[in-house]
Amino acid sequence: MRTIISLDIGGTQLRAAVYQDDKREAVTQKRIKTNANEPDTFGRLLKLIEDVMPRDGKVDAIGASCPGPVDPKTGVIMFTPNIKEWRDFPFAAKLMKSFGVPTYVDNDANLAGLAEWKFGAARGHHNVLYFTVSTGVGGGVIINDRLLQGTHGLAAELGHTTVQADGPVCGCGQRGHLESFSSGTGIERFVADQLKAGRESTLRAEKKNSARDISEAASQGDALSIEAYQIAGKYLGIGVANFLHIFNPSVVVFGGGVSQSGPLLFDAFDVSLKEHVIHPRYLEGLVIARAELGDDSGLLGARALAELKLDA
Ligand SMILES: [Zn+2]
Repeated sequence: MRTIISLDIGGTQLRAAVYQDDKREAVTQKRIKTNANEPDTFGRLLKLIEDVMPRDGKVDAIGASCPGPVDPKTGVIMFTPNIKEWRDFPFAAKLMKSFGVPTYVDNDANLAGLAEWKFGAARGHHNVLYFTVSTGVGGGVIINDRLLQGTHGLAAELGHTTVQADGPVCGCGQRGHLESFSSGTGIERFVADQLKAGRESTLRAEKKNSARDISEAASQGDALSIEAYQIAGKYLGIGVANFLHIFNPSVVVFGGGVSQSGPLLFDAFDVSLKEHVIHPRYLEGLVIARAELGDDSGLLGARALAELKLDA
């Protein structure tokens, strides 16, 4: 019997699950608050792992999903947005020392992509692009059934690719990245700037309007809100066209809250994608799908990573 402990490290929650053999459902799982502002997040994580550990203590591997950048080769978490005490943190080595089993870690977007390939919307596809469109834009790429990790494990930051050289400032500090247009943050910034410039809208400039508020206003016919999502969709189409040219996948999977905006985002995306591909053959048979795994994508991706390593 093969037993894997899977970890999903998030800014608000730490989750752990035990998977056995090919069973799709976890045999045990538990979650606790991250409390990232309090010291010793790692101590809380160790306790959580002990709580889900099988009675016989037999575990073949630990897999972990963590917001990046993470180096999957060395198992070092270079930086993770919410847990400030983890800087160049030798995560895998510390867990291996504590539990004596091989430990693998990669960033959350890569592993969400891997999870969709193994268990979700991209099952059966060999070349997969995965996007999470929420506060930021994250990406994962699977080529010939292998997760693209890159020399330093820093692939595939699809959100931080330039789609307009002098465009708005991105969360990373650079200009004109896909994320600066198509993320929830990008949509909010566009609306805030337009309101400040005196543009008419049912939204008010004094208030902080979330991507969700803007989506609701759009569904009531607010022209500014509709435009904000159209711009997000247009640049998402430009970005995806670029990636089709590079990777020529058979499926593109979208996860994350903003990607649930439906036609508000995807009508403009479809038009833009068609306009920007250099040959219609890129779109032949191309499946555009919604992610299927929701909240469990981190746990299932970490599990898939550990399974791939054990099988290698
Ligand atoms: Zn960026």
